[in-house]
Amino acid sequence: MSDLSPISAYQNCRLCHRKCGVNRTTQTDVGTPSIGYCGMPDALWVARAALHYWEEPCISGEVGSGTVFFSGCSLRCVYCQNHSIALGLSGKRIDTGRLTEIFLELAAQGAANINLVTPTHYVPSILPALDAAKAQGLTLPIVYNTGNYETLDTLKMLEGYVDIYLPDFKYWDAALARRYSNAPDYTKHAAENIAEMFRQVGTPVFAAHSPLTSEPPDAALSDSYSTDCHFNTEPMLTESETALMKRGVIVRHLMLPGGLDDSKQILRYLYETYGDNIFLSIMNQYTPLPAQLNGYPELNRRITDAEYEELIDFAIDLGIENAFIQEGETAEESFIPSFHAEGV
Ligand code: SF4
Repeated sequence: MSDLSPISAYQNCRLCHRKCGVNRTTQTDVGTPSIGYCGMPDALWVARAALHYWEEPCISGEVGSGTVFFSGCSLRCVYCQNHSIALGLSGKRIDTGRLTEIFLELAAQGAANINLVTPTHYVPSILPALDAAKAQGLTLPIVYNTGNYETLDTLKMLEGYVDIYLPDFKYWDAALARRYSNAPDYTKHAAENIAEMFRQVGTPVFAAHSPLTSEPPDAALSDSYSTDCHFNTEPMLTESETALMKRGVIVRHLMLPGGLDDSKQILRYLYETYGDNIFLSIMNQYTPLPAQLNGYPELNRRITDAEYEELIDFAIDLGIENAFIQEGETAEESFIPSFHAEGV
């Protein structure tokens, strides 16, 4: 059980490295600059809660990941693919009791796991909701899916709650982190966080899923992950290729236009530090959204096949075996789900 007081954590909010120190309990309007950098009050706002087929195959499986998209974000990257959520402009206000119900409803729908997306600024509220859901029988793995800018103290609250960490590692170069996320200290903190995540959950554990209970949609992004994406298939894939991760760390890296050298630095660091004790997810699905890219002309294009292939060749030459890569037309806006509080 969590002994954390959500109220005290929100009264002087320092959950992420923005360390705003604001009192979120006195705020009511989402997206207001006078709140913290994430733009969210202490009240839970959730944009979507549904089975989701767009994650890595070992997270979505064929049954779908029970994904809860929280509104607001403490990073607010200029190229964000979920812009309306990041700005807190979509979603519905709920209490922790309703969040508990959502977790249980997703489990009843056959979800492979409970997947908390952009949860950093709501950790003090999520923990009691998980406690209550577990008391009512929730046994699914808990996935913590983050842009990776929370503090170590926030991560330490999650020990014993989270089974699978799914952090981004966005930048190596501080200049890129400053330009695109206004977070020049991102790399240092992201690296420290991954070390803490690995300390908590350790090396990957997989288990085959029970027979399928629902079919993924035809355009599922999971289908766009290469069937060869898991270079080392032995520990994971069953005949039906539905093996699901039960525990471990998958670090995601979204390749950016012109970011090949930065991407290589990140892969090198992760492999030299963790070898194949974590998984990497090397993503080419960057989608330019021109309306939000004024002042960033270099980002207004997709990743070329040549750029992505060079990065994958680099990963293979390094010796990386545990990685997911993407194939086909992944850079389509259609892969970005709509956020109209479905399931909330
Ligand atoms: S969670 Fe929000 S209010 Fe709290 S420190 Fe981070 S950006 Fe600031």
